[in-house]
This record gives sequence, C-alpha cells and structure tokens, in this order.
Amino acid sequence: MFDLNNLLRDNIKKLVPYSSARDEYKGKEGIFLDANENSFGAPVSALEFGSINMNRYPDPMQIDVKGKLSKIKGLPIENIFLGNGSDEAIDILFRAFCEPAKDNVIVCPPTYGMYEVSANINDVAVIKVPLLPESFQLDKDNILRAITSTTKLIFICCPNNPTGNGVSWDTIKVLLEKFNGIVVIDEAYINFASYRSLIPELLNYPNLVLLQTLSKAWGLAGLRVGMAFASEPIIDVFNKIKPPYNINAVSQQIVLDALDNVSVVNNWIKEIVAERERLILAFSKLPFVKKVYKSDANFLLVKVGDPVQLYDYLAKNKIVIRDRSKVTLCEGCLRFTIGTKEENNIVMDQLMQYK
Ligand SMILES: *Cc1c(COP(=O)(O)O)cnc(C)c1O
Repeated sequence: MFDLNNLLRDNIKKLVPYSSARDEYKGKEGIFLDANENSFGAPVSALEFGSINMNRYPDPMQIDVKGKLSKIKGLPIENIFLGNGSDEAIDILFRAFCEPAKDNVIVCPPTYGMYEVSANINDVAVIKVPLLPESFQLDKDNILRAITSTTKLIFICCPNNPTGNGVSWDTIKVLLEKFNGIVVIDEAYINFASYRSLIPELLNYPNLVLLQTLSKAWGLAGLRVGMAFASEPIIDVFNKIKPPYNINAVSQQIVLDALDNVSVVNNWIKEIVAERERLILAFSKLPFVKKVYKSDANFLLVKVGDPVQLYDYLAKNKIVIRDRSKVTLCEGCLRFTIGTKEENNIVMDQLMQYK
C-alpha cells in the first residue's frame, strides 16, 4: 500500500516551514511594514510589466497564476506546485523523499539528464534500467525487479527526451499499481504529443507526480517556471520545502499575461508538429541518414553515419544541434529541435550540401 508518511524523510515530516510575512496577512491593501521592504519604491521602471510592485515580495503561493493554470489544466490549485523550472520540482522530490546515502531512485536511460544530476547532488543512488533498444519503451520486468525496499522514486519521461517517443500507458499503470513509492512522469513535451496528459489519472493514483513546464511549448524558457501536479498532501510537502519566494514577481506577472494567449501557443504547436512531420520526410531522403525516429516532441532524433563530423559541419555553419551519440542506446544519433519554417529550411539546405 502507498503511504505518504512512510515515504517522507523524517526531517521533512517534522519540518516547521518558514512562515513569511505575506503568509500571515493575505490582504492586498494596507500600509505594509511587515517585511522590511523599501516602501519608497524600486529604482527601475516596472511600467513595461504593468503594475508590478518590484519593491514588494511576491505572493509565495502564486495564487493568481495557479488560478489561471487551474482553469487551463482542469485541476484545483491545491494540486498545483510552481517551481523555478521543473528542475526545482525534481530537486524537491529528492529532498522530500530520499535519505542521502541510503535511498535510491530508478531512471531509464537514455533520458533527461537532470534526474541523475539531482540524485548525485543529493547523494542518492541511481539504479539504471535502460529502455528497450530501438523501440525505446520501458523494460517493465527489469524495472519491477530493480525496485528495492529503499527505492523511493521512479522517473519516466513521456514523451521521452532525447528519443522523442511516448511510453506505453499499460506499463506506467503497472508501475503505479505495484510500486509503493512515487512514480514521476515528466510531461515537458506533452503539448506536442498525439495523446493527452495523465492529469485525469491523478484522481486514481496517489503516488503519481506529473511534471510540466512553460519552457517548451509555452515559449518561456528564459522565465524559469515549471509545474508539478499531484495529490494535495504531496503538493503540501513541496510547498513546505520550496524557498518561500521561489517565483519572482516579474515572472508571475508575465506568466499571468502569457496564460491569456493559449490560442497563440496552440497555433505554434500545430505549426511545430507540421514542421516535424515535414522534416521526418526530408531527413529520410538524405543519403547519410540511417534512421529518423518517430517523435511526439518538438525535436527529432536522427541516426547518421558520422555524427561528430556532421555536428562539426553544422556548427561551422552556425547551426547548433545536440550530439547524443555518446548516450546509451543513441549511438550515431543527433538531436534536432524543430525550429521555425525558415530555420528548418536553412538546416535542410545545409544538410543537402553536406557530403
Ligand atoms: C526541457 C525539459 C524540462 C524543462 O525543464 P525546466 O527546468 O522547466 O526548463 C523538463 N524535463 C525534460 C525532460 C526536458 O527536456
């Protein structure tokens, strides 16, 4: 049986969170002399960003932003955590659940590198269960065998980075049902997939944590805002651990404005997906391309004859891609982000001239 209390570290169970001035007084009007701010103002003009009071601490719980996200995601605000990128949510998962030098987590390479880096920073052991070659699906039996009494988290990236494929729901479901720890599904690229987010499954699985981000489809990588969705008790733990003011006032205001433009983002997603399918065909026709993997994301993994030489050639022509050829199961592979139509045309022109 999944029991959140058994899973949490003792220090986190006992933790009395920092109580900020803005936690205690919720009103928006008043003479604020509670947080040692500068009441005179800020020495920069905030006009561009509307009405941000930059001399004031931001809302620690980001209630306005979560209110808008709640409508878009169809999820109560109590099930939403906002972090300084998804990377903050990943780090908090380790700090909440994994006892350093004792507990372990499972990751399935090739996948997003931050899970392992965050584990190393937190001195938590990583058990690697590679994906199945070529299909890049989860190796369900080996994952189940790899679980130990001190396994706290299983990280699954869907659609997966850098392979681009989705992960079978049947397998995820088995893990959610058989594993008493937390199953983390990273949906950073879900907006580009042909299937939907697992958000509705949060009602069925108390051990499910979903990660999403504003860095990819939403075009706000520079802002550093990521999201975690989970049961209310898990979100409460996240909020206890996070730095009180982890999303700054400017970011909160920009996200509020951005969330009004869902249709702009949806149009970009359509265009990116169309470009992705166009590029799959174009890549397949290039003589040095051995394989173009299917993708549910905004990038393509492409296997070529000499990846390092091709990488260098493109770099010389000021086209920057990601060399994944040294990554487990990605021998010979380069990863291309889908750019604008104009950018993609330039890349294709360069590739057609490559010998
Ligand atoms: C890009 C990416 C993220 C986003 O991280 P942020 O910290 O939110 O920018 C998360 N997970 C995966 C798999 C990614 O590729």
